[in-house]
Formats: sequence, C-alpha cells, structure tokens
Amino acid sequence: MIDISHPKVRTAVHAVRQAASLMRLIQRETVVSSLTKGDKSPVTVADFASQAIIGRLLSQAFPDIPLVAEETSAALRTPDGTKILTQVTQYVGKIIVEATPESACDWIDCGGAEAGKQFWVLDPIDGTKGFLRGDQYAVALALVEDGVPQIGVLGCPNLRDASIPDLKGPGSLVLAVRGQGTWSTSLAEDEDQWKQLKVSSRGDPSQARLLRSFEAGHTNVSQIDELADWLGVQVEPVRMDSQAKYAVMAAGGGEVMVRLLSPDRLDYREKIWDQAAGAIILEEAGGRLTDLTGKPLDFSQGRTLKNNRGVLATNGLLHEKILQGLASIQA
Ligand code: AMP
Ligand code: MG
Repeated sequence: MIDISHPKVRTAVHAVRQAASLMRLIQRETVVSSLTKGDKSPVTVADFASQAIIGRLLSQAFPDIPLVAEETSAALRTPDGTKILTQVTQYVGKIIVEATPESACDWIDCGGAEAGKQFWVLDPIDGTKGFLRGDQYAVALALVEDGVPQIGVLGCPNLRDASIPDLKGPGSLVLAVRGQGTWSTSLAEDEDQWKQLKVSSRGDPSQARLLRSFEAGHTNVSQIDELADWLGVQVEPVRMDSQAKYAVMAAGGGEVMVRLLSPDRLDYREKIWDQAAGAIILEEAGGRLTDLTGKPLDFSQGRTLKNNRGVLATNGLLHEKILQGLASIQA
C-alpha cells in the first residue's frame, strides 16, 4: 500500500485535488475566456486559477522548495487582462477565501522559480486545448530531486474510460512515489481507496495501442504512421490530449506514446512540466521512458529537457523494438 502520510505526498495530492475540483467547476460553467500567449496556445481562467491555488498551497507548506510552473501573471497585470483576473480571483476565492487580484497574481508567480537540486514542477492544466474542447486534460505536479522525479500526481477530471477498469473515477487521481509504485483513486475529496496500477503485458508490436496527441502540431503525424507501419500495428490508436495518456498507459490501457518532433518545430525541446509527473507515473507502473535516441530524460537542465530530443514512453516490453523502429525511419 502506498504511504500518503508523508507531508510532501499528502500536500501534493491535496493541492491537485483542490485545483482539479475547481477546474471541473470552471468547465461546467464553461468559463473559457482565453488570452493568447506569445506561443499562441490558449491560456484560460482555469490555467491561472489552478496555478494560483497550487502555488499558494505549496509555498505555504514548503517555503524553501522552489516551484517551476508554466504560467506567469504578466498578462493578467495589463489592462487587457483585468476581466480575466477578476474571474481568476473569484474562482480562487472559492477555495482560498482571502484571495485578492494582487494575491492571486503573487501566488501564480510563485511558479517563476529556477529549477534547482530539489523543486516542484507544475503544469496547472496540461492539455489546455483538450480542456477547451471538453476532452481530456490534467493537472500535473511532480517533485524533482537531482534531475529525477520522486513524486508525481496527475488529476484527470475527465478520465473515466470504462475500458480501463483499474482507473477509479469519475475523474481519476493518479499518484506515484519513487519505489512505492503507481496508484489511483477518485478525485473526490473523501475518497481514500487506492488501487495499484500496472502497465499492460502486451509484447506483440502488431497489438500495440499507440496513444497519440489530439493536436497534430505537437508531433510528426506522418512519421508516427511510418512507425506504426514498420511495427505492423493492427489495432486502432487512441487520440488523447495531455499527460492523461500516461495515466492510461500506467493502467494498462495502451502500450506506446511517442513525441516526435513536429516538422514546423524541429528545435522544440519538451517542457519539464509536460513530462515530469507522467514520467514517474509510467515508470513506477512498470513502464519505460527515454528520448527518441534511448537516452534517459534529464530533468536537471532548467525549464526544458534540453539534453533530450522528443520522448518515447512504452510499457517496457516494446521499448527496444520501437527504438529500432525510430532509428530505421530516422525520426
Ligand atoms: P498533447 O496533449 O500531447 O498534445 O501535448 C500538450 C503539450 O504539448 C502542451 O502542454 C504544450 O506544452 C506541448 N507543445 C506545444 N507545442 C509543441 C510542439 N511543437 N511539440 C511538442 N509539444 C508541444
Ligand atoms: Mg502542458
């Protein structure tokens, strides 16, 4: 059984639960006013509110552990951001009653720290485009030490796939602690029944279920097709946004996830918050992660995986075979 009494584990689980419950509320009320960030990805009231809540809870509980998170409050502090900031403050206030526009911005900016020897890393909503579509998204939080994730928590409010009975729901919380395995429970606050997750035992490449991004621009679609042909895959892929893909793989609902470099962004390096929580969740369930050349992911290089190119995540059994496939199609 996993020990969730450790303060860092307990706080991380609580913080993700709080943020995820608010995300559900925001999605129900369909408040998806979005600004456009410099990189054109939509960022919503929900992203900011999630980061503010988690920033506040972590900085109070662990003032000495830095937080590296995706968003900053800069856009909210401009005249164009006033309307969104008002909404963010209202939502954050449902959980932290003393929230003001100023304090909400400050809590968001708790996430501007440098990645050091030990740090939290947060994607307040991974898969914002999935969130906007009403599909999959995840609140993703990890604790990294010496470049290696030690705790990972994913809150996946829309994950309730009946084909994956091990994932509790509706709305799954998945937790991994290094050396203690990967476990899932419901996102409901009073739910304390944990079930251990294990990756699938499919070793036949023709039966490999590929978990693919919904957004074509986040990968190289034609190379994934080439890889599937090379492997002789005969089963349908699963298209899904966010690190919910890692939760599904950890629960045995898929075998392979590959992040190839988009032809438009060959210089792209993965952001640490897009991988850290999912990585430990998959590894502790028995899976394996490397970059496209087989190198371990190195989370010690600041805000990106600077030393790695793309990501290959598998149930372990298929890893070497797929590395061979990637070399052969020269991905
Ligand atoms: P997914 O849900 O698999 O589509 O991945 C979502 C994440 O992809 C977002 O959180 C972005 O940070 C990240 N992303 C954005 N642009 C790219 C890109 N060109 N290549 C890979 N990932 C990207
Ligand atoms: Mg993300």
